[in-house]
Amino acid sequence: MDHSTRSTPQASRTAVDTSAVHAGRDDLAALGVHALPLDLSTTNPLPDIEAGGDSYEALAGGSVLPAGGSAVYARLWNPTVARFEAGLAELEHAEAAVAFSSGMAAFAAALLAFCTSAGRPHVVAVRPLYGGSDHVLASGLLGTEATFCGPDEIASAIREDTGLVVLETPANPTLELTDIASAVEQAGEVPVLVDNTFATPVLQNPLNHGAAFALHSATKYLGGHGDALGGILACAEERAVRLRSVRAVTGGILHPLAAYLFHRGLATLPVRMRAQQDTACEIATRLTEHPAVAEVFYPGLAPDPAGVLGRQMRGPGAMVSIRLRGGFAAAEALTGRLRLFTHAVSLGGVDSLIQHPAALTHRPVAPEARPGSDVVRMSIGLEAAEDLIADLDAALEVPAD
Ligand SMILES: *Cc1c(COP(=O)(O)O)cnc(C)c1O
Repeated sequence: MDHSTRSTPQASRTAVDTSAVHAGRDDLAALGVHALPLDLSTTNPLPDIEAGGDSYEALAGGSVLPAGGSAVYARLWNPTVARFEAGLAELEHAEAAVAFSSGMAAFAAALLAFCTSAGRPHVVAVRPLYGGSDHVLASGLLGTEATFCGPDEIASAIREDTGLVVLETPANPTLELTDIASAVEQAGEVPVLVDNTFATPVLQNPLNHGAAFALHSATKYLGGHGDALGGILACAEERAVRLRSVRAVTGGILHPLAAYLFHRGLATLPVRMRAQQDTACEIATRLTEHPAVAEVFYPGLAPDPAGVLGRQMRGPGAMVSIRLRGGFAAAEALTGRLRLFTHAVSLGGVDSLIQHPAALTHRPVAPEARPGSDVVRMSIGLEAAEDLIADLDAALEVPAD
């Protein structure tokens, strides 16, 4: 494999590493603290009735907390959440970020804010997408109407009433890459939302390529330890106002304890990402030669005619999917025999996970768009590469032919 594609120029590596440690913490020394403050208040003292009312009105309208104002009530504003938002916004090169109780809550808020409540209920969605995102769009549960298409069919799918173009790169679970700049060009005036969960801001910044929104399930790499659920959208402040307004009425705000954990997680995100990626590269390469494996899905291995890897994405990431020669039976045997990989959905944590997308994460997806029953998806953790490879070798069944 060409390892040159995953080396980041030293300047930007330093920038993301430094931001990851310092973003959203500028005022800590002045506050006389070193660790991130955690504020669990559900309500806040009001300076007086008039000032309290002014703060309430500003926050319900989606503005940021006015200087000297009161946070009023935790469904409207929380300083620990706002601090995490400032940190992630910096990492995504965005003016603002708005954090939600899950990745799906963030996605739902975007659909409500920019599609159904904006008189533009049509969504152009590039498949494949995360199963939950595909489900909410295909079902129309939130009042949207979706056209699913390939990455080169966006322009022809756009209508007068299209409110958003939605795509995910690398995509789930086949890790196909989509050229964000090309999607943005095809979308014209319509804002493009990119699910950046798999790449993280360490490897990819969708807004730099013209996307209007970068979406993260913070539950995955941002938190990195499998112990907090959350989501976040990075975007321009003007759009953040509308998202905060929707968040206030739907009650979708992130819990401050989760915000604290995510913000703490940002500090180690670049180091975790690179270490997990190095191991994933090694595993993907080794599995291409394995007699039990029919195909390895990994960005560093697939053809990349548009040159997305390197130009748009600074490395192939730490997710690896494989197609097994022994089909579903081999997938069942593999998930049951592994010792170091936990058989579980989710991804992006310090420990390795394996799951069967067709049965689990992509179960709600239409059969024609669902991954094959011979595909399993692995999230590579921080364990030693040799130990993970030995675990896979012992669990993979070579079909007799
Ligand atoms: C998990 C996931 C989501 C949904 O996030 P939750 O935090 O589980 O609601 C969205 N997109 C991708 C790519 C995911 O992996």
